[in-house]
Amino acid sequence: MSEFVGVLLPLPFNDVFDYKVETTDNVVLGSIVRVPWGREQQIGVVWKLGKSSDLDEKKIKPVAEVLNFPPLSDELRKFIGFVAAYNMAFLGLALKMAISAKGAFDGAKTTTLYTLSGKTLAEAKLKNSDARWRVIELLKHYPYTRAEIAAGAGVGQSVIKTMIDAGVLSPIIVENKKEYAEPQGDFYKVGLTAEQQAAADILVGKIGEGFSVTLLDGVTGSGKTEVYFEAVAKALDNGKQVVITVPEIALTSQWLSRFERRFGVKPACWHSGLGTRERADTWTAIAEGRAKVIVGARSALFLPYSDLGLIVIDESHDHSYKQEDGVNYQGRDMAVVRAKMENFPLILATATPDLETLNNVEEGKYDVVKLGSRYAGAELPSINIIDLKKDKPQKGEWGTSWLAPSLVAALKENLQKGEQSMLFLNRRGYAPLIICRDCGHRIQCPNCTAWLTEHRNSKSLVCHHCGHSVPIPKTCPECGSETGLTACGPGVERVAEEIRFRFPEARVKIISSDITSTLADVSDVIKEMEAGNVDILIGTQILAKGHHFPSLTLVGIVDADLGLMGSDLRATEQTYQLLSQVSGRAGRGEKKGTVYLQTLYPENAVLKALLSGNREEFLSLEKKTRRLLKLPPYGKLAAVIVSGNNREQTERVAAWLGQCAPNTDSITTLGPAQAPIYMLRGKYRYRLLLKTAKLIRIQEVLRNWLSRINIPNNVRVEVDIDPYSFM
Ligand code: ADP
Ligand code: ZN
Ligand code: ZN
Repeated sequence: MSEFVGVLLPLPFNDVFDYKVETTDNVVLGSIVRVPWGREQQIGVVWKLGKSSDLDEKKIKPVAEVLNFPPLSDELRKFIGFVAAYNMAFLGLALKMAISAKGAFDGAKTTTLYTLSGKTLAEAKLKNSDARWRVIELLKHYPYTRAEIAAGAGVGQSVIKTMIDAGVLSPIIVENKKEYAEPQGDFYKVGLTAEQQAAADILVGKIGEGFSVTLLDGVTGSGKTEVYFEAVAKALDNGKQVVITVPEIALTSQWLSRFERRFGVKPACWHSGLGTRERADTWTAIAEGRAKVIVGARSALFLPYSDLGLIVIDESHDHSYKQEDGVNYQGRDMAVVRAKMENFPLILATATPDLETLNNVEEGKYDVVKLGSRYAGAELPSINIIDLKKDKPQKGEWGTSWLAPSLVAALKENLQKGEQSMLFLNRRGYAPLIICRDCGHRIQCPNCTAWLTEHRNSKSLVCHHCGHSVPIPKTCPECGSETGLTACGPGVERVAEEIRFRFPEARVKIISSDITSTLADVSDVIKEMEAGNVDILIGTQILAKGHHFPSLTLVGIVDADLGLMGSDLRATEQTYQLLSQVSGRAGRGEKKGTVYLQTLYPENAVLKALLSGNREEFLSLEKKTRRLLKLPPYGKLAAVIVSGNNREQTERVAAWLGQCAPNTDSITTLGPAQAPIYMLRGKYRYRLLLKTAKLIRIQEVLRNWLSRINIPNNVRVEVDIDPYSFM
């Protein structure tokens, strides 16, 4: 007699699909199965036992295969359910994040090698040919696969097949399991300072003691990594797995070397850049508990660890933990939920905690451990604000200048002293906008409400939203002028051009995701920088993230105002974080560092707070504003984004939503309005913003609201709980 199971598929559905199994002996909740799906097959997870639909039993198809992986645990399935419900995403897409390792299910789990059976050619009644002898010679030393035998002995597959069929060669089946060497908690103990040791003791004390969240709040260069490594060592000691997430996995080469020095081996890595095979190996090793420490991007938070005992979120303030694509979620917050459900501790490490985290500390939900001084007495850099209205950049033979004379002088002096400098500008490319001086035409992306950015390096105009790219036109597309097209404003390439003119003898490098696009490119530049082979490094926000360059003593922030003018609620906070992180790169060795911030608004509160080094002052200002406006963490927000190819239809749906929007004492809905990026990848976009008091269950309000209207198939309504981007 057959039985039924409900299988959840990694597709945009909330419901399970019924399948038949011969017996439920080897099928439990959480079993990973392969099932027929249309003309193809899908990997899914048994989410329910028994039949869920009223489909005719005869029409229900059988499960094709129960895969030999540990079933997803009750806690993980509960977590996936939570992620979907909280973020108002499809349950199937939340599941997809846990089993996104196609190759792990498709690839063969075994390899067949061949060896000599002991039966001779004569016994097998085969002739004694040269080809057969070469096979026998080869296999005297070691067993090989058929492909390896063919290559190694220089024979065709038919020769091998005959020998196998006749029993001269016999198969050995081996499992394909990539080995993951175990990190050793006591491989190399770093001598900690008294302050570091005290912090480490507190973190270590949390391991194995159930759920807790601890903010490791330490100034840049205070040794947060060394400190949380102690907690990692303790968790390993307890036989547990550990996940450490970092904002920019492509840039962790320094971090990886430090890990290896401390624990003797490299950890397993998890990020979108892994190849299929690597991904499959890592996923399998995680599920089977063979990979002990996993360093990864936010997606690593959803994997089926067999025995997780600690999560560390490094640079926990970083906005890359917020995903705004597919399932919208805040990884840092989801990690807290997972730690709570599975009852283990979580560490948030940062020099610039976000207001939400600090609020949780104030409310006593999170603990805090502080590191107030830099390691080895390295001093925090001194900060100088350059008022661009007074200290005006002077034109030169290369054209417009972007650097104030005082910054140029400081760079020159630093160069003469043989010390390293870094210029930071959060703008890729050469110029953010091309305008025609003759007719005023500005070159826009055909798919998005955005200007095209000039990239001289690749001789193209690029849209930073959709990737649309065209060669740089010779004449104005509007008036045909041959001399009108002019680059407006600077990007990193343009600043590099000025630097090369001003300091032809300096060794200059650029780090920016389009120039140093691969992992290897970036780590090459970083290695060069560490080796002292770079005098001036110019880069985008990538530079803000965690690198440690001991001989870097000057940091110049080309446009400190970028971001301050942004309208969204976190713009100020993010600018503060970014600027202090970048400033934190300077003077991390024996020599003191200096930071120069170029601005048109020297009176700005954020810059003043940076200048005084008084984080508390800045935070209390920021808190006051948010409290007044009832913005997070003092209220809740959710964005509703309506998009579609058909402009009228999209607008109509947005208008309907506006008409039946909830509005009470504690709930306000704003919009609909055309999104700031009204057109994105060819789709029209409208936004609504729901604002509620903190105690309101915003998901319920949304569900209730959205269920009131029928959404046509070609219009998409997407919810973003606690949005970070308002574009
Ligand atoms: P943070 O993450 O707080 O900015 P890091 O952990 O990157 O600081 O530490 C800054 C630098 O100081 C790193 O090069 C690190 O190896 C070094 N360092 C910190 N603490 C110690 C220690 N106790 N012993 C040796 N080196 C240390
Ligand atoms: Zn023109
Ligand atoms: Zn575009």
